[in-house]
Amino acid sequence: MNPNSFVNLTNQYMSSTDFDPCQRAWIEINSSAIEANTQLIKEFVGPKCSLMAVVKADGYGHGAETVARAALLGGANYLGVATLKEGIDLRKAGLKCPILILGNLVSKNELKASLLWGLTVTLSSIREALICQDIAEDCKKNFNVHIKVDTGMSRLGCDLQDALSFCTEIESLDNIHLEGVYSHLASADSDFDSKGDSVTSSQKNKFDTLINSLSSKNDSLCFHLANSAGTLCNNSLHYNMVRVGLALYGQNPLPKAKSDLALEPAMSVKARVSLLRTVPKGTGVSYGHKFKTNRESRLAVVGIGYADGVSRALSGKISVMYNGKLIPQIGSITMDQLVLDITDYSDLKVGKIVTLLGKDGSNSVDAQLWSEMIGSIPWEILCSFKNRLPRVVV
Ligand SMILES: *Cc1c(COP(=O)(O)O)cnc(C)c1O
Repeated sequence: MNPNSFVNLTNQYMSSTDFDPCQRAWIEINSSAIEANTQLIKEFVGPKCSLMAVVKADGYGHGAETVARAALLGGANYLGVATLKEGIDLRKAGLKCPILILGNLVSKNELKASLLWGLTVTLSSIREALICQDIAEDCKKNFNVHIKVDTGMSRLGCDLQDALSFCTEIESLDNIHLEGVYSHLASADSDFDSKGDSVTSSQKNKFDTLINSLSSKNDSLCFHLANSAGTLCNNSLHYNMVRVGLALYGQNPLPKAKSDLALEPAMSVKARVSLLRTVPKGTGVSYGHKFKTNRESRLAVVGIGYADGVSRALSGKISVMYNGKLIPQIGSITMDQLVLDITDYSDLKVGKIVTLLGKDGSNSVDAQLWSEMIGSIPWEILCSFKNRLPRVVV
């Protein structure tokens, strides 16, 4: 076949309904919800505090570019990513705002690519700082960096007692511009009270001591400490910038009593019914027959499964929403399908759309609820949806 006729064939195929993203199962992203959440958070932190929208892991599964654009419209000043590739992808998509890579880059190639793509890097040790200086000098450019200091997370960051000398060393490097100093909270979603001796207040105290010793020498440094939980629980944790992920997506990591900001979940997960069956009383359903019908039952098969990101651990625990009703899922969730018991819901037909996560009338199911069912956290639920599910921006 000559290549041109192949192109024609492909076009024909693409223009048919075969590629409708809403054919089987998909994710709807409400970008105005992300914009509105960003605005709310921005108002909450006030005009003096910058807002970094954390869009790592493909924008917590929502699509990094979609989220980045919505968050910038809502007033975000900076973007945060975890990896070099995530940063480059945003640059390739045409985003020109400052982007900080929160992960630790170690190789000369990675660091050089960061410089050339105009990405700000996080440094936790002098080893990488010296590599950055070499690269920047070679390229006759300046390297924008933030230093990370460990105040109690025991993950990335230099030791607290080395932080001052680390900063001083970095500031002596000609081609390095030290823009910010930051740390990361370990327990802000559960333990902060402004007086007490919580992990968070101990981290805050350490960070304050560091700031006092640094800001006398450099009053233009950007200090930042808070994730979503830190941002929402206490404004003493805001400093010059907050790094917000989860809350942008409409999930509040704090209990309602501690923060009642009206955040709106931005992600809905939907799928279509692909087959209806009637089975007799006593029929085992799905792998392992974990569910047996206790009456003649009407079953609906829905084309979404754990390979799409609906955890098998949710089997028999969730309900889907349809026409204002909650319909129970039964038996084991399989790789590509799950089964509903629709005996009491006769209006559900083949091709109809059910909502797994999201809102339907007065019902809503969010990542928090799913996470509680399986001992997970909402962050993990949002990030678990696979690329097999098309993302549709609404
Ligand atoms: C992921 C991440 C955040 C955002 O955390 P949320 O709890 O989702 O707001 C902030 N800072 C760093 C360093 C991160 O890695």
